[in-house]
Amino acid sequence: MPAEVRTLPLLTGRRIPILGQGTWGMGESAAKRAGEIAALRLGLDLGMTLIDTAEMYGEGGAEEVIGEAIAGRREEAFLVSKVYPHNATRQGAVEACERSLRRLGTDYLDVYLLHWRGAVPLAETLAAFQALRAAGKIRDCGVSNLDLDDLTEARDLPGGQAMVTNQVLYNLTHRGIEWDLLPWCQERGIVTMAYCPIDQPTGHTGRRSPLLTHGVAQEAARRHGATPAQIALAWLLQRDVVAIPKASQPKHVRENRRAAELRLAAEDLQELDEAFPPPRRKQPLAMR
Ligand code: NAP
Repeated sequence: MPAEVRTLPLLTGRRIPILGQGTWGMGESAAKRAGEIAALRLGLDLGMTLIDTAEMYGEGGAEEVIGEAIAGRREEAFLVSKVYPHNATRQGAVEACERSLRRLGTDYLDVYLLHWRGAVPLAETLAAFQALRAAGKIRDCGVSNLDLDDLTEARDLPGGQAMVTNQVLYNLTHRGIEWDLLPWCQERGIVTMAYCPIDQPTGHTGRRSPLLTHGVAQEAARRHGATPAQIALAWLLQRDVVAIPKASQPKHVRENRRAAELRLAAEDLQELDEAFPPPRRKQPLAMR
């Protein structure tokens, strides 16, 4: 298995790893902390260098866990964090970013995102992102949970052309973005990052992903000597979408990394399309 996962080009010329690690739910429990740090380090060792976080996760706790996990190996990691909408003013976003940097123990983020659209005008947030880029505190910027109307509006504002990614809910059971948002972004070179890639949202404890028990996903998994979770990830990666599964169990971390080496065949893709049909009309962007 190659040490690094494949990368995709960003509009600004840098590249983003196609498979990373989510951290929602980390940094919330002292008892789980050591295991979370170990999981993130294992992921780094296996080449899953993109780590996705947000000031929201554990109210800074997840960023602190990552800070410990990457101590002494910052240059290996590709860090993505997000600003709360209520902090995303011209000055507030700069201050929120500086707090994130302190918790992460670094002096720059690879990508900084607006977590979702709130009451602050998008123009203010984009101006803050431009200032942070100029100061070298972030390398790139983007947004999350923006549907096509909001994204179009943002892109036409000063600084909007610098947005390199939109991070949205996307997986086999939530394919709505294929109607308009995904192709629109692909035509413009804006990378789509898929959150909840195996449809097991961390914030909804007790919910079992329907993907893991679906007969068609299980059958495809059997053909590849893989698991349904790996099929769900491989399906995203094959569409040049970045996937950021969250895994705190070493078994899951290893399994997710191996998904990057899977290649689904035309037969797999056809059966998955029949079981999890693409949208036939516009659907509002789903969120978690
Ligand atoms: P997810 O990645 O779809 O699922 C995470 C859950 O699946 C965890 O319970 C994990 O268990 C389990 N899991 C991981 N790998 C597995 C495998 N190979 N087989 C079976 N189960 C596996 O959901 P998510 O954490 O909600 O989403 C991923 C990341 O996206 C988040 O952590 C966060 O970084 C980001 N996110 C962003 C937004 C946004 O608004 N931008 C919203 C939601 C999520 P263990 O932990 O026990 O290993």
